[in-house]
Amino acid sequence: MYFGSVKFFKHLILTIVFGWIIIATGLAAFFGIKYYLTTKNLDIEDGTSYENAMVIPSNATLEQLYLILCAKGYTPDDLLNFLAKNENDSVSRFMDNYNPEDFQAENADFDIIDDNADTSEEPSPNDNNNNDNNNIETDNLNLPSYTKLYPELYADATFDFVAPEKIIYLTFDDGPSKNTLDILDILEKYDIKATFFMSGGTDDYSASLMRKVAKEGHTLAVHSMSHKYDEVYQSVETFLEDFNNTYMSIYEATGVRPQLYRFPGGSVNNHNKAIAAEIIAEVTRRGFVYHDWNISGEDATSSATWTSIYENVVYGVENMSAKRAIVLLHDSADKVTTVHTLEDIIDSLLADGYAFEALDSTIQPFTFHLTE
Ligand code: ZN
Repeated sequence: MYFGSVKFFKHLILTIVFGWIIIATGLAAFFGIKYYLTTKNLDIEDGTSYENAMVIPSNATLEQLYLILCAKGYTPDDLLNFLAKNENDSVSRFMDNYNPEDFQAENADFDIIDDNADTSEEPSPNDNNNNDNNNIETDNLNLPSYTKLYPELYADATFDFVAPEKIIYLTFDDGPSKNTLDILDILEKYDIKATFFMSGGTDDYSASLMRKVAKEGHTLAVHSMSHKYDEVYQSVETFLEDFNNTYMSIYEATGVRPQLYRFPGGSVNNHNKAIAAEIIAEVTRRGFVYHDWNISGEDATSSATWTSIYENVVYGVENMSAKRAIVLLHDSADKVTTVHTLEDIIDSLLADGYAFEALDSTIQPFTFHLTE
């Protein structure tokens, strides 16, 4: 009799053993291939990675997405790729409503002017700026009228960002003021470069301070001249007016055309919710890179003390998961405590092995994400 015999148990054991081997091999192969495909995909994205580097608000309009891509030299095909790989509201709406074939380069409503073509009949608003935006024909896009405002308010920042590690970017907002001088002295003592998101100023004293910041090799960046949230964020137009006033005061004082911008209160805050997506897209369309921060000294609050500022920055950096810190501090006239804390902050972070650098337009920004 076969069942219960020695032969039966031999076969049973062999079946179980081989069964397990086959199942284990199958599972290993399945997850191995899946893992391979996942990492391969990530490698590709890291290598070419315009989508990783794009800083686009999740509800920018399709036109804004397109202009941002074109301003950076990407093509309609890149846009298709971008749309296919990114999920956000605009992309979903676009994908729901359009046939991708309608959007092939040759059918696109968006024309990119041929560099060799004669474009002399209509001077571009950026002619004096050597800007890539020169290559974009926007007449047939249904763009808001504010995109025609302030033709000098353009930058040429790169989107091929690098994200270095173990680097501290000290950023000082709301200056210049008399405290800027003390901060410059400290930075010079340590041979450290930093970034000044300035409120600008049209008076001679502010202009001379801005020139000193520029002369000493720090990055001049745009913040907000009025810094009154209800005025700045009343509309896209009032926002651009403040941006342009600040930008022009820096440019006229120093001859430097800033590439970097920081929104008053950060890119997304309680004062700008209604227009945050639109102004982020517009700032980006104009070629600027905007920076929020991932470490705040919280030195703008009236309760800030030497200890609180020091601990916020040093412990904040030591405990952060990111490999680099964009540190928010202030150099406005009443922020004397910040000046007093700065040397100790620098000493501690140098001891922790960090290097200090100024932001420039190649550095991948840290930005708050829009929440719906
Ligand atoms: Zn500020």
